[in-house]
Amino acid sequence: MTEQMIEPWLREILRCPRCKGDLTDATTDSDPELHCPACRLAYPIDSGIPVLLVDLARPLD
Ligand SMILES: [Zn+2]
Repeated sequence: MTEQMIEPWLREILRCPRCKGDLTDATTDSDPELHCPACRLAYPIDSGIPVLLVDLARPLD
């Protein structure tokens, strides 16, 4: 079992770096991601650490 948990206090303060909006938890295949529905971007989570960089985000469309 390799479920990756983000620390609750950290998850609480996470915001999209582009629009400052709320992020949605998501999983693609086996990789967890954080999605910004407003920007249509998916931010990767690397070893439990959210990578909130627009340059590294994946477009959802
Ligand atoms: Zn956004």
